[in-house]
Amino acid sequence: MSSVRVGRYAPSPSGDLHVGNLRTALIAWACARKSDLGFVMRMEDLDERARPGYVDSQLRDLAALGIDWDGEVLFQSQRAEAYEAVVRRLLDEDLLYECYCTRADIRDAPTASHAPPGSYPGTCRDLSEYERELGRAKLENLNRGPALRLRTNIGTLTFVDEVCGEFTGHIDDFVVVRGDGVMAYNLVAVVDDEFQNVGQIVRADDLLESTPRQIYLQNLLRYRTPTYFHVPLVVNEKGQRLAKRDGAVTLKDLSEKGMSVSDVFALISRSLGIDAATAPEFLEAFEFELPREPWVFQAPQ
Ligand code: GLU
Repeated sequence: MSSVRVGRYAPSPSGDLHVGNLRTALIAWACARKSDLGFVMRMEDLDERARPGYVDSQLRDLAALGIDWDGEVLFQSQRAEAYEAVVRRLLDEDLLYECYCTRADIRDAPTASHAPPGSYPGTCRDLSEYERELGRAKLENLNRGPALRLRTNIGTLTFVDEVCGEFTGHIDDFVVVRGDGVMAYNLVAVVDDEFQNVGQIVRADDLLESTPRQIYLQNLLRYRTPTYFHVPLVVNEKGQRLAKRDGAVTLKDLSEKGMSVSDVFALISRSLGIDAATAPEFLEAFEFELPREPWVFQAPQ
């Protein structure tokens, strides 16, 4: 692997990309290319909703917009050994513990006074061996195993985002391996970003709150921390995150409404204050001026 640090786009192949996803991908590509970084692609396909067919359609749509990437696409479904090695390392350092809580247990447990709702209250952090056996037996009856949580030791972590500015997030004992054995998003994202030599992360701002946890994990594993750009989501007219039900939102839907790829490109580009119908034109004009407000997309019905 080359030592040039890269930007990346890491979609989950659980549907066709809509204009909001395409816009984030375009910004990620332009930030990387304009910073003279490489740009890599990763398929976050551990999700049960991931489908091989969407891998192809997503890559085809990105390429149609003129977004190019270096090297092979990385698939998380082929990275089990790398994740397991990191889990073993954390276990060896006594940084993980089994958690037997169900969602309802967490919801009903009293949280510490400064913790936001939904934070893990540490119920299983210091159990005796006997209590652990009871926990395992309880989950066996529910047909699942324990999750593994990270034993964290700071309450909050602050970082500076290139778009959103200073952001402080609560760090609870978050899950790194789910009860069904699937590696959790925060773990795999951090391990893959290090593996792919990612130095710049551009993604939608619904992930802003995950970033302090990811930085915490990077520090623990002695990985480098990239620069972050969290860009506002694209929303429908009601201000809700754009989705399939909003009408024609993908390249395919929009082409059925008579819009060519360059029409869609120009529309996305205009939402970023740039007049361009192709990727090279966009790159030429791009100056890292990123919106702070969501883009309201009125989809043709
Ligand atoms: N796979 C995530 C998504 O499609 C993005 C994760 C990331 O960029 O870290 O929303």
